[in-house]
Amino acid sequence: MCEQTSSVVTDLNGDGRSLSQLGSLEYDPAPESVAVAHVRPSYGLFIDGVFTEPSAHEQFVTLNPANEEVLATVARASSNDVDHAVRVARRAYENVWSKTSGAERAKYLFRIARLIQERARELAVIETLDNGKPIRESRDIDIPLAAAHFFYYAGWADKLGHAGFGPEPQPIGVAGQIIPWNFPLLMAAWKLAPALAAGNTCVLKPAETTSLSALVLAEILQQAELPPGVANIVTGDGATGSDLVDHPGVDKIAFTGSTEVGRGIQQRVASSHKRLTLELGGKGANIVFDDAPIDEMIEGIIDGIFFNQGHVCCAGSRLLVQETVADEVLRRLVRRMEQLRVGDPMDKNTDVGAINSAAQLARIEELTSYGESEGATRYTSSCTLPDKGYWFAPTVFANVAQSHRIARDEIFGPVLSVLTFRTPEEAVVKANNTNYGLACGVWSEKGSRALWVAQRLRAGVIWANTYNRFDPSSPFGGVRESGFGREGGRHGLEAYLNV
Ligand code: NAD
Repeated sequence: MCEQTSSVVTDLNGDGRSLSQLGSLEYDPAPESVAVAHVRPSYGLFIDGVFTEPSAHEQFVTLNPANEEVLATVARASSNDVDHAVRVARRAYENVWSKTSGAERAKYLFRIARLIQERARELAVIETLDNGKPIRESRDIDIPLAAAHFFYYAGWADKLGHAGFGPEPQPIGVAGQIIPWNFPLLMAAWKLAPALAAGNTCVLKPAETTSLSALVLAEILQQAELPPGVANIVTGDGATGSDLVDHPGVDKIAFTGSTEVGRGIQQRVASSHKRLTLELGGKGANIVFDDAPIDEMIEGIIDGIFFNQGHVCCAGSRLLVQETVADEVLRRLVRRMEQLRVGDPMDKNTDVGAINSAAQLARIEELTSYGESEGATRYTSSCTLPDKGYWFAPTVFANVAQSHRIARDEIFGPVLSVLTFRTPEEAVVKANNTNYGLACGVWSEKGSRALWVAQRLRAGVIWANTYNRFDPSSPFGGVRESGFGREGGRHGLEAYLNV
């Protein structure tokens, strides 16, 4: 049964058919086998090249958000464990990794990349089980991109003198790295690959709801025979992350997560010697002009907001559409949304999977309730949601005003707010009317117009006639409350070099 129903429009197509009658074709289920996953019943901490028991013997469970079944128990690292991991990383930095040549470091990174490829199917299944994202996305996007990041930075490890940071740029030392749950393995790769290539050692903390793929990566680090202590993985919640941030033996903090937590970390790190990069939230604008190719643009809008259930920092969660085409775009958009297949993430036909946690579902429900109470018009897919697990049907709000909370707050779910504009100037003003500045999209047949708009948008990443394109050679990061520092590309090395 669908928990949310379309509230207003019943005849979207103008031909008397209701939303549910516009639904997608039926597909036979095509489930991926979970047999390849080998999830262990419990996982320890990965410190000094081995899995160890947490000193306080505390564990927590990690769930499959699609059915609420327990997948495994995971160790909760105490402050003693974080201290142990940081000391081990320091020793490995001084005795081993800082003395290892760039060409040697590259060999390890290449090995890790190839092992990720070899174990890609298993990693994709584990990612989908633990996160709830469709297997199609973990298989085709998360895991290949994670391998690509290790390949890419392996190529840089012996060429740092040519990266534009002086002839012999030096590593920083021990990096403390904290990542979110939306792209668990990919975020780990974004952090570890450039740091290790540049000659740093690492202590990485995955998000508490999605530790499993990072722990499989720990097995891969063992398989690759990475010297013990060079990369350590401590699992736990915000308290573990906090211990890592405050540890005096850490030289650099790299944080990806919410703006709220990032702000607190910035304050705590401010009075220390630590270097800091922050990759935070966003409220990306996808700007659509009336000359944009409509079919491609509708697919781009759909991908921009419903990819990964909208759990994407750079999601195009605000659609700015030129008034002359607003009715047609909305009609086609809602029609396309209705065709999205929502359900079992392990089914290869699924487009939209489960929400990662009960807490995130509650946040999405709370924020969308403001949409209706503040006067926006709600369209919700009439899909049938599974009885168990955490689910939210794809939703579009029209008639949204800039003052509405759904136009200002990051919902981090499958919810799109549609606003309109008349002139390019108005589009730019509205797109920039946010505290965030991570990503935007522009859709127009005219390259000159796309460039004119792009130059005036205050955001770290701008896509033209596409959305959500990621590549390891391309820098990614935000401005204003979306953070600072870049990951990816040559720029991503700067965060891990003493420059
Ligand atoms: P979150 O800030 O709640 O948690 C992120 C990580 O920080 C987790 O590992 C968590 O355990 C840890 N943490 C929590 N409190 C901490 C503290 N006080 N000190 C240190 N660590 C702490 O964010 P989330 O809900 O996991 O992720 C969603 C957010 O991440 C969204 O806002 C999203 O936009 C953002 N994000 C940004 C990017 C980017 O590249 N800019 C990428 C992915 C996600």
